[in-house]
Amino acid sequence: MADSTGFLKYDRALPTRRPVEVRIRDWKDVYVARQNGEDPLFPTAEVRKQAARCMDCGIPFCHHACPVANLIPEWNDLARRDDWHDAIERLHATNNFPEFTGKLCPAPCEGSCVLNLQESPVTIKQIEWEIIDRAFEEGWVQPQAPAERTGKKVAVIGSGPAGLAAAQQLTRAGHDVTVFERADRVGGLLRYGIPEFKMEKAVLDRRLDQMRAEGTRFVTGVEVGGSGEDDLSTEQLRAEFEAVVLAGGATIGRDLPAPGRELAGIHLAMEYLPYGNLQALGELEAPPIDAHGKHVVIIGGGDTGADCLGTAHRQGAASVTQLEIMPAPPDRRDTGANPWPTYPMVMRVSSAHEEGGERLYSVNTERFVDDGDGNVRALLLHEVERVDGRFQKVEGTERELPADLVFLAMGFTGAQREGLVDALGVEVDGRGNVARDEAFMSTEPGVFVAGDMGRGQSLIVWAIAEGRAAAAAADTWLTGNSMLPAPVAPTTVALR
Ligand SMILES: Cc1cc2nc3c(=O)[nH]c(=O)nc-3n(C[C@H](O)[C@H](O)[C@H](O)COP(=O)(O)OP(=O)(O)OC[C@H]3O[C@@H](n4cnc5c(N)ncnc54)[C@H](O)[C@@H]3O)c2cc1C
Ligand code: SF4
Repeated sequence: MADSTGFLKYDRALPTRRPVEVRIRDWKDVYVARQNGEDPLFPTAEVRKQAARCMDCGIPFCHHACPVANLIPEWNDLARRDDWHDAIERLHATNNFPEFTGKLCPAPCEGSCVLNLQESPVTIKQIEWEIIDRAFEEGWVQPQAPAERTGKKVAVIGSGPAGLAAAQQLTRAGHDVTVFERADRVGGLLRYGIPEFKMEKAVLDRRLDQMRAEGTRFVTGVEVGGSGEDDLSTEQLRAEFEAVVLAGGATIGRDLPAPGRELAGIHLAMEYLPYGNLQALGELEAPPIDAHGKHVVIIGGGDTGADCLGTAHRQGAASVTQLEIMPAPPDRRDTGANPWPTYPMVMRVSSAHEEGGERLYSVNTERFVDDGDGNVRALLLHEVERVDGRFQKVEGTERELPADLVFLAMGFTGAQREGLVDALGVEVDGRGNVARDEAFMSTEPGVFVAGDMGRGQSLIVWAIAEGRAAAAAADTWLTGNSMLPAPVAPTTVALR
């Protein structure tokens, strides 16, 4: 039973981030972190108070808004009671990797929290992080190897959150699971997209240790369906494995075919961020794309753009401007068009935005301007307005914005077809995603699809939910039935 008056006694509070002038000098987590040997700024007593704000509502909208269906009121109450061991048991019951979501989820649960009717939701995501971080510290996150092995071999292609969740579930169900990753290290976008200051790689590595100890095998530097010497052909894949889970992500970045796009200094965001991540780990002194001393323009106002922003500041950019074609969102939810309990479309200030830079809204790039030597020198912009749902140029608003370096962070258009997808012969839907039926199976029998590769560009929490559900489907295919949970269907969408 929750503390029914907790929300009246305590205000919503979150830990403060490290001061901007300190944190932009390093790449470490923007929050003080236990893994860096620092005392948590948010003491246990404060976390317990925040957890006590949960009312254990009759209908927990937070739970319905969470794609993995986290049992939020239950673990909030266990945290309030100081029972952290049972809290992590309840959290792990629905989420393989609460540390990834506790750090990185945009928390649709908080948008749907009943206290968000008053705009002060329970700090669900922070409590989730505190529960799992503490569990690692206490040594409660131990390998859960299966009691019996089925002897069936499963390949998972791609080691992002979808592939990792599918692999962990299938390994625990007793199958012999191999994860193939074409990059040199495991983690997908958790490793090479999301910067260190948002989630340190040590957080990922400690979970991978658990997975290895459970028996999941990781093979890196191998592209399935690739043409390299060390790559694995799809014929070998099908011959060796009884079931396959495709979790290769939506890796094709949306480009901007404006005049001047061919100039030097214009890059897709994912050409830039992996170098930043290697630099953050001290493995690359001089990244081939470096914002140091440069005027940087980021086209795209989302998470990927914010990650470029924080990376450019840490590299010592002279200025950073982030452009967005959409108008600036309101500070408060429009309760008519965007009512509770749907996800609130409001202005957000990420840690990267706190660190500086300018955000321009309702602007479009007309062309990239040459410096005479084939390098970008500026962008020619104009303002836009929406007429009948389409963006139209506001005449007379053209202006140049200086730019030595431009990052295109406008989303992703779907799965890479060349290689794996073409060689397997699986169908692709009209949105560029690998098509699947209601059981996550592609048009090839025994080949399942999870995460961004099937859903299109999405979120970590959806990738985990899909990985769990696709694992349940693959387990059923292999054994005739499954005890594994399936939190979502391929067609499940966010509360709207
Ligand atoms: C810069 C950036 C920041 C983001 N920040 C957030 C955030 O803060 N919060 C959030 O919730 N979401 C965020 N996202 C979205 C989130 O990262 C993705 O939705 C999620 O990672 C998708 O997981 P996935 O497992 O489907 O694919 P991915 O994480 O993309 O992993 C796919 C993996 O498959 C591998 N692969 C592909 N083809 C092959 C092949 N043929 N053989 C072997 N390996 C292959 C790739 O190398 C890659 O490692 C961000 C995305 C980006 C780009
Ligand atoms: S995974 Fe995301 S939506 Fe679910 S409880 Fe955690 S923060 Fe909320």
